[in-house]
Amino acid sequence: MKINFEGIVGQEQAVEKLKRSLENNQISHAYLFEGEKGLGKKDIALRLAFVLNCTGDDRKPCNKCNSCIKIAGGNHPDIKIIENDGIIRIGEIRKIIGEMQLKPHEGRYKVYIICDADRMNMESQNALLKTLEEPPSYAVLILLTTKGYSLFPTVISRCQVIKLYPENPEVIKHYLIKNKKIDEEQAHMLATFSGGVVGRAVELLDNPDFYYRREKIIEICDKLLTSNLFAVLEQIVFFEEHRLYIEEIFGLMINWYRDLFMYSETRNMDFITNIDRKEEIDFHAAKIDSAKIRDIVFIIEKAKNNLRSNVQFRLNIEVMLLNIREVLSDGNGGRSEI
Ligand SMILES: [Zn+2]
Repeated sequence: MKINFEGIVGQEQAVEKLKRSLENNQISHAYLFEGEKGLGKKDIALRLAFVLNCTGDDRKPCNKCNSCIKIAGGNHPDIKIIENDGIIRIGEIRKIIGEMQLKPHEGRYKVYIICDADRMNMESQNALLKTLEEPPSYAVLILLTTKGYSLFPTVISRCQVIKLYPENPEVIKHYLIKNKKIDEEQAHMLATFSGGVVGRAVELLDNPDFYYRREKIIEICDKLLTSNLFAVLEQIVFFEEHRLYIEEIFGLMINWYRDLFMYSETRNMDFITNIDRKEEIDFHAAKIDSAKIRDIVFIIEKAKNNLRSNVQFRLNIEVMLLNIREVLSDGNGGRSEI
């Protein structure tokens, strides 16, 4: 019998661990999937629910049996996904525990997937603990969390913990090319910006604002090198209008200068993130030496850190831009400090 976790992007270690326990029939009554948002925790949990209840003979899930069809349609009576925005209160947990005492309607297992399990408050976690100690034989609880530290150690110790980590961007790149039908350059760029988080790559792919901000940042970096001071300071408006995305914007800027640095040092475009902007990278790298690029990245990092202090937003951006200009213009005017 073949267990199939197709459709999950990467996460080989986690998937192998689950496959092994399924093949050896060592099914745990409680799992805890931990990892940042976008890594596919819910997809893997659902896949586990499929496999546990599939009645197919040689391949699980078969995607053909009654159980597979119902789970895919979201209407299998024995599979429950608990997903809410606020705190998960004790009433909700008691309801789950109550339901769990009743045998499955039609499946072999009753599977409860609790998303954002760290939202359970103290009472909820305490209530769940008792069930985790003596679960019915047919029950499987899957807790998903981005913050395992918010759960009681006693809860964690009763779960089989499966950790999910960001993937090598190459894995994300291949996934995007194959499944989203985009070209290699775009896939490479998105995979790098995603930081190895598949959900983030997919989110960026469909987000025109991200492309706009990236364009704008490259334009600003270009102005810093080629335009007069007035044209540079005019760009502060962009930062103010996109203030909510300032972390991403700093990330885009740092990425641009890292590309210049990599290209300056290696003369090889294979290491570049903004692979669709080779000409500009070549042009900029010819004008800015590696030592200056390092100084610029340092200036941006400093502005990024200032976000957490009380420095006024506009002043912070202004000083950053002026300091970058200072580095680029070889001037002796000295840098400004906030
Ligand atoms: Zn099936």
